[in-house]
Amino acid sequence: MFQVPQGGIGPEAAREIFAMSEAEFFEQILPLAKTARERAFGNEVSFCSIVNAKSGACVEDCSFCSQSNSYKGAQAPLYPLMSAEKILEKAKEAESFGATEFSIVTSGRGMSKEKELDTMVDAITKIRESTQMETCASLGLMSREDLLRLKQAGMINYHHNIETARSYFPNIVTSHSWEEEVDTVKNAKELGFQVCCGGIFGMGESVEQRVEFIFQLRDINPDSIPINFLNPRPGTPLAEKHDLTPLDCLKIIAVMRLAMPQKELFVCGGREVNMRQYQELMFDAGASGTMLGNYLTTQGRSPEQDLQLIRDLGLVPVSPHRKAKGAAHELAEPAKTAG
Ligand code: SF4
Repeated sequence: MFQVPQGGIGPEAAREIFAMSEAEFFEQILPLAKTARERAFGNEVSFCSIVNAKSGACVEDCSFCSQSNSYKGAQAPLYPLMSAEKILEKAKEAESFGATEFSIVTSGRGMSKEKELDTMVDAITKIRESTQMETCASLGLMSREDLLRLKQAGMINYHHNIETARSYFPNIVTSHSWEEEVDTVKNAKELGFQVCCGGIFGMGESVEQRVEFIFQLRDINPDSIPINFLNPRPGTPLAEKHDLTPLDCLKIIAVMRLAMPQKELFVCGGREVNMRQYQELMFDAGASGTMLGNYLTTQGRSPEQDLQLIRDLGLVPVSPHRKAKGAAHELAEPAKTAG
């Protein structure tokens, strides 16, 4: 009988889950992961939404990314930073679909130009004044000083992925280091941001490196973790990489839920192409949220489909940072299932 200690499972148990057959996983692990999610969050789930506010022309060489200048065959749209008014328009659209958090994402190593940072500050102020959504940004590697300006504009969340396990990172990115990624996350944490930090699975890492990555994320201890599954982009070095089965995806979500029972886990990019028939089980596997609408350079399912799914599951959308955040240890109203 599989046991989950109070503080979550460790690497050995994670390895055991990754080695399980489909039947063992469904019988022993999925119910535990669902219960862990319900203990921490009841029947509440969060939806975030993003706008790709600046696309393409990036000098970095992340192998999964079609926005890198290094991969000439890749076809991400190319445009400079949107105006603050345009970003606000996108935020209002996301709110009308039910998103509770809105993240502004830009391509590039970081916000190098002062003018760009001014636009971001303006956009964040406008979104705070005109919507009920929480604001978040994902602007690459950032200094403490620049993050502080965003903080002073009222932004409370910062997103920065560390992409993959430390030992696998040099296979994926050579233009900057894993440590630089972690430094940005630390800067944001030290300034008091709610930090969202995760990465991408299915980029060729071994199962052992999946375990390594999950426990490195646990050590970094962000407030929420986005889980992405590689959706291979034409023209990038990972264009032909199709490593994940739908069961692998469910196992990754469940291991993360059981390793970090109180953590907000968002299933984001690549869920449609990788989870396929199991996509509707992501909340049972332990996800406490997902992304609504389109991703950075790929299309998501329609927001209506996702909203219908949570209604069918008896789940209720809430803002990610107003939730119980782990305080609720008692098992809340059990979520109704579609039957
Ligand atoms: S992930 Fe970000 S930093 Fe890396 S190539 Fe893409 S846009 Fe540039």
